[in-house]
Amino acid sequence: MEKTMQKGKRPITDWLPITKKEAEARGWDEVDVVLISGDAYVDHPSFGAAVIGRMIEAEGLRIAIVPQPNWQDDLRDFKKFGKPRMFFGVTGGCMDPMVNHYTANKRRRSNDAYTPGGMAGFRPDYATSVYSRILKDLYPDVPVLIGGIEASLRRVTHYDYWQDQLLPSIMETSSADLLVYGMGEQPLREIIRLAKKGVPLSSMHNIPQTAIMRPVEESLPVVKNWEDLELHSHEKCLEDKLAYAANFKHIEQESNKLYAKRLVQGIGERNLVINPPYQTMTEKEMDKSFDMAYTRLPHPKYDKRGVIPAWEMIKFSINMHRGCFGGCSFCTISAHQGKFIASRSQKSIMKEVEQVVNMPDFKGYISDLGGPSANMYGMKGIDQSICDRCVSPSCIHPVICSNLDTSHRSMVDLLKKVDHHPGVKKAFVGSGIRYDMLVKSYNKKADNSIDDYLDQVIGHHVSGRLKVAPEHTSDETLRIMRKPSFKHFHEFKKKFDHYNKKHGLKQQLIPYFISSHPGSTEEEMANLAAETKDMGFQLEQVQDFTPTPMTVATVAYYSGVHPYTMRPIYTAKSKQEKLAQHQFFFWYKKEKREAIRRRLRELKRADLEEILMRGPAKSDKPKDRKSEKSGNQQQQKVQNGRKRSTTGKREGKSRVKEPQGNSRGQNPRSKRQKRR
Ligand code: SF4
Repeated sequence: MEKTMQKGKRPITDWLPITKKEAEARGWDEVDVVLISGDAYVDHPSFGAAVIGRMIEAEGLRIAIVPQPNWQDDLRDFKKFGKPRMFFGVTGGCMDPMVNHYTANKRRRSNDAYTPGGMAGFRPDYATSVYSRILKDLYPDVPVLIGGIEASLRRVTHYDYWQDQLLPSIMETSSADLLVYGMGEQPLREIIRLAKKGVPLSSMHNIPQTAIMRPVEESLPVVKNWEDLELHSHEKCLEDKLAYAANFKHIEQESNKLYAKRLVQGIGERNLVINPPYQTMTEKEMDKSFDMAYTRLPHPKYDKRGVIPAWEMIKFSINMHRGCFGGCSFCTISAHQGKFIASRSQKSIMKEVEQVVNMPDFKGYISDLGGPSANMYGMKGIDQSICDRCVSPSCIHPVICSNLDTSHRSMVDLLKKVDHHPGVKKAFVGSGIRYDMLVKSYNKKADNSIDDYLDQVIGHHVSGRLKVAPEHTSDETLRIMRKPSFKHFHEFKKKFDHYNKKHGLKQQLIPYFISSHPGSTEEEMANLAAETKDMGFQLEQVQDFTPTPMTVATVAYYSGVHPYTMRPIYTAKSKQEKLAQHQFFFWYKKEKREAIRRRLRELKRADLEEILMRGPAKSDKPKDRKSEKSGNQQQQKVQNGRKRSTTGKREGKSRVKEPQGNSRGQNPRSKRQKRR
């Protein structure tokens, strides 16, 4: 294939227009849709605005993008295309802007991975609502449609960690006309089909996977096979934390069902109406979405402003599927992408491999062949009719469902195929791997493909360190997290060591943990530090829990109860409590040891003191200081060479020095950075 990706040599019309001049270069004197985005415009299938823009273009409409408009001047950015013929689309970007802007300690971040040069300050807090209200002021008669992760996760009454209070649906705060939740292609296609026929957005009440507001006195339209489920009103949630918690179980279950109910929630004089989601996208639909005319490059206007870190991370990586059936309590992936896996065909994936190989600066290394969880590609229920009736938020917790086909065969085939491509020196699996599906102690009915997968991945697709996420060692807290017992991680480590040895490699296994998760106590964290030290780990990746909207853990954090059992759950909330949980990880640091020793004595845990204080502190010895530094540098390198943020993401930023939010699923790969 010819080297066609040379940026700078391509006509500007290869990108969707972001200026009036560029629209005119396409022969357009007006546009049908204007899409306002909180991110810079990167024309790549991992970036939501590009996917939606390309999809609208493929439907034959004239679409322009306004990336990162200035919301503080005379608003000229919002006016530059004038009134679109059909509607404005608004997204806050690939991450919730609050997760993007603030650390778990609510400190303002100094960078933004979705902006050229990594510069912060190019989008407002609560961007979707800010943009939408501006548009409503400027063009009151043009409909505004909102979508993306921020709109999706804030579609109903939710807890906002940054304001420390419940907020109503974003439909209320944005004044938008229509909300699309989840991955937007299917509802948007239907919206466009109707809009082309002249149906106004204000009449589109029955489109699956959308939400609208209706006056309470208006009855809801009757739709065949749709049942209604009334949630506690927003006002009731404000009064009663338990009512808010009780809502969540319904919201999560209906979001993950194949045949869900329509949710209705009162807000003042109106009802929020959330229509059931579409069925999971088929392989054909997925291929269509990934095979559109992307340049795979940032818009040339950014050339002089520095690289866009999120693009730099993913430009040589390939997303194989969407969705995650893990259902982890702290993760937003399934709330946005769904529990069922939507996979691309091998043909479509290999076509993208070909495109990446032909990029002029490609040096032979694919940085990730993955997805929200790397090893869920192609997985689904054996008997679909059982899945059709299922309400479980997870297919692999508390046990692996007997109806789930966990064969890793097609992934092994695909990895080998990519490995054999003459243009690929190495293809890494950088996305998180669900290690629990790879051990027979947990995945009891697994076939031999799990061993073939581990053999293939550890032998050929790890870039020195394999990152997995046991998240905790306490069975009780793991149950709340919807993660398996830590004993299965011990099993996995044995397998990892075995295949490492078999291939004559000295790769490292890097476990990830979360501190201050609901249910987690200080003593448990001390146990965690001791148990992992005994296994030979010196932990570097410790994340402080951040309550992001629409997770079980966030509901527990705010309400104090588990939304499924309504039983009380303790959560470390104060800075002091959080630091106390976090400190035990740093037993190897001289300056931390006295405080750890003192606290363990107060807790009467001489056994843990003995384990954690055994051996000299690292910083006692200059040689060790050096090795610690180089270890951190190496880790930073791996992170940089790894994928995307993830939304969810460890957001590529999680370091021990500054605990970060666990906002997985909030980035382009929406999850590829999610740790499993
Ligand atoms: S039946 Fe099993 S495989 Fe199917 S959705 Fe439910 S938990 Fe998942």
